[in-house]
Amino acid sequence: MSSPVWHPFTQHGLNEPIPQVARMEGASIHTVDGERYVDAISSWWVTTHGHCHPRIMAAIRAQTETLDQLIFAGWTHEPAERLARGLIEIAPKPLAHVFFSDSGSTSVEVALKMALGYWLNRGEPRHRIIVMEHSYHGDTIGAMSVGERGVYNRAYQPLLFDVDTLPFPGDDGANTLEALETLCRQGPPPAALIVEPLILGAGGMLIYPAHVLAAMREICRTHGVLFIADEVMTGWGRTGMLFACQHAGVSPDIMCLSKGLTGGAIPLAVTLATGEIFDAHLSDDRGRMFFHSSSYTANPIACAAANANLDIWREEPVMDRIASLTRRQAERLDRLDSPQIVQRRQLGTITAMEFVDPYGDYLSALGPLLNRFFRARGLLLRPMGNLVYVMPPYCIGDEDLDRIYGAIAEAAVDIAR
Ligand code: PLP
Repeated sequence: MSSPVWHPFTQHGLNEPIPQVARMEGASIHTVDGERYVDAISSWWVTTHGHCHPRIMAAIRAQTETLDQLIFAGWTHEPAERLARGLIEIAPKPLAHVFFSDSGSTSVEVALKMALGYWLNRGEPRHRIIVMEHSYHGDTIGAMSVGERGVYNRAYQPLLFDVDTLPFPGDDGANTLEALETLCRQGPPPAALIVEPLILGAGGMLIYPAHVLAAMREICRTHGVLFIADEVMTGWGRTGMLFACQHAGVSPDIMCLSKGLTGGAIPLAVTLATGEIFDAHLSDDRGRMFFHSSSYTANPIACAAANANLDIWREEPVMDRIASLTRRQAERLDRLDSPQIVQRRQLGTITAMEFVDPYGDYLSALGPLLNRFFRARGLLLRPMGNLVYVMPPYCIGDEDLDRIYGAIAEAAVDIAR
């Protein structure tokens, strides 16, 4: 029987099988047919500690007993208050305010609107946004506008707003930093720079050095341009530290978090801002408030999951698990020695590599082939074209990691043949 479900980033015309999942636990996915798959990409980078983590599931269950959903405009609840305080404790200083939303894309929309609102309320309206080449910040119109233009958003390009784009950092990053200096000096003053710190995710797992991130931040500070860090993918330990900005000692003006905020169990996002940005909206004039909301802002059940996640970070050796996964990933990546696999790279718990393909891009014919190959070997490992990356939950065991890298090595042999 055909399904009425329309799946994201899925070409239904290819009639690829769509496994139906019954149960998940740790790094395991169990289908209704009794098959077990290893989740090698943390279900699109959301799951940090592992699927159905008992503490997060228990917190969700407990929260459902008392408080399900509350309008958040002018009302509040304990799970959101506790979460906001907990986030400010661990976030880079001087981030001091927490605005809730429900997805990574929305947290980016909120960040952009906060930046523009800040400048308007200061009486110096600014609209120019600077972005980095190959960035991805989500799929809503504003988030797409600040992301790379390409196959992902070709149909919508006439609706996207103009931005100024920095080249991706070369060896020493001078190309990027010079371009940023020039953009800050010329033309109307920019409102903000938005970047994915240290690694561009959907743009191809492209890694750049911490000193470039730090220098970009300093250039923005010098020119009074707001610095927005989109830590939707990089946050919650993926890069080896709690937040990627910490590798560079960078403190952004605005920071976006989602995905691992609830351990990946349930949708929630936050946009953190400094007191200065909050204060620019503070007035007895209702026309200067921050005009953004969505119905499920700070949903109490999602906040309870996020509070349980913070407790896990406080009370369990999460950084040790991350260090161990980083080391175990490095060992396996190192052993992958095939002329078919190039550009091997790693940042913290994330590894990436490219299968040789002269036409390699997101629509590379290798993508569906590799996808099928890995699925047949019990792996959820969803390459982006010819780019394969491994970003598992931190609880993954050695056997499962071996299975992932064994399949990648086998695919290289198979494809060469
Ligand atoms: N920003 C970054 C850096 C991301 O990687 C993503 C998603 O992958 C997003 C924003 C969008 O998040 P969401 O898919 O939750 O809207």
